[in-house]
Amino acid sequence: MTTVLGCIADDFTGATDLAGLLARSGMSVSLRIGVPETPPTQTAPFEVIALKSRTAPLHDAVADARAALEWLRQAGAERFFWKYCSTFDSTADGNIGPVAEALMADLGCKQTIYCPAFPENGRTVFMGNLFVARQLLAESPMKDHPLTPMRDSNLMRLLAPQVTQPVALIDRFCVCGGAEAIQAELRALKLQGVAHVVVDAVSMSDLEKIAKGCRDMPLMTGASAVAMPLPALYLADGTMSADAPKAKTPKLGNGTVVLSGSCSAMTNKQVADYLRRGVPAFRLDPLVLAESGAQEVLDWLAKQDLEAAPLIYATANSDNVRSAQAKLGVAGAGEIVEATLSACAVAARDAGARRVIVAGGETSGAVTKALGVTQLHIGAEIAPGVPWTYCQSGGHQIALTLKSGNFGTETFFTDAQEKLEMV
Ligand code: ADP
Repeated sequence: MTTVLGCIADDFTGATDLAGLLARSGMSVSLRIGVPETPPTQTAPFEVIALKSRTAPLHDAVADARAALEWLRQAGAERFFWKYCSTFDSTADGNIGPVAEALMADLGCKQTIYCPAFPENGRTVFMGNLFVARQLLAESPMKDHPLTPMRDSNLMRLLAPQVTQPVALIDRFCVCGGAEAIQAELRALKLQGVAHVVVDAVSMSDLEKIAKGCRDMPLMTGASAVAMPLPALYLADGTMSADAPKAKTPKLGNGTVVLSGSCSAMTNKQVADYLRRGVPAFRLDPLVLAESGAQEVLDWLAKQDLEAAPLIYATANSDNVRSAQAKLGVAGAGEIVEATLSACAVAARDAGARRVIVAGGETSGAVTKALGVTQLHIGAEIAPGVPWTYCQSGGHQIALTLKSGNFGTETFFTDAQEKLEMV
């Protein structure tokens, strides 16, 4: 089917988040990891391409986004969405603004909006200032982010140095006037030569008005939330026909494996909760792995009944993580754990696991790569921003869920398994 909306996301979990919100509509949503090497064939009405460009060199970020745009155009899309983080994570050079300008140039469009608000997750924009819960962005923990420290909360000031064309604001008073007021203000700003328009939003109803006012723009940009109303709007106005493909849930075997490489506070709680249930579990110690390799855990896994959904985890508290990192280095400890969990994922799949639950953003990247996954079809949401996905791996259809750090509640691992049984 012709793609109705082509989305480009600047990182993998951001792409999953966007895909999950679009899939709340029940329509078929497909997520590609990187720009596909082959031209589009069987495409979904909503296609999301996950790049790894948030902190990439500017030239690479722009080139990747343009390649993604070209592929999505070949898929038939005429409307596009550039997705970045709801905390506007970027360096002084970009890459949010430069990518938007490059996409606008390729599309021949003169104006776009910037709306990182995600009220459900506490991100709001008022008078162009971005808030994280009750704090201004630059006073939130984002001020100390290791890669993209955010030291200003004002989106116009953040964006202006990243772009060549003028920047302006549509404030909340205008947004409250609804889609037509927003469209009138966009037209007025366009006459003044304003290409980049930051838009205030503090509630989902603001986002609905913005999506309605901007749904026919060739390019919208923002966090995932402002894209959420688009499927319903496209169905209502006939842009997408009612018989467009819906999300499908394939029949899968019961073999399950849970792989946890995240050491976040929430993942520690999730592992503890799962262990309390008495499931078979194997704890990975990076120091032991460095000395004797992965054979012990692979032998253990080979003896497990996969219907019991065994857990393999490196999840540890911060003292243990620090002591492993002191001996192996931060990257060394991370790599050895990621390589081991990846080998376990492949072995579990080959032994019949058809449901793979992974905790950890980097861990998820390593596991999907090892499983040879390039496309995910989005299924039921387990927790906000964490859907089940379906994909092909080693000639098998499998279900995969990829949870980054602090997502999900304490019972996430059992929630995930129950969710798949319910659908
Ligand atoms: P999150 O989404 O919580 O940030 P990630 O998977 O992105 O999780 O990052 C966690 C990193 O920590 C991974 O590189 C993982 O391999 C590494 N790691 C996991 N367990 C340990 C441990 N016990 N000691 C040191 N590093 C670990």
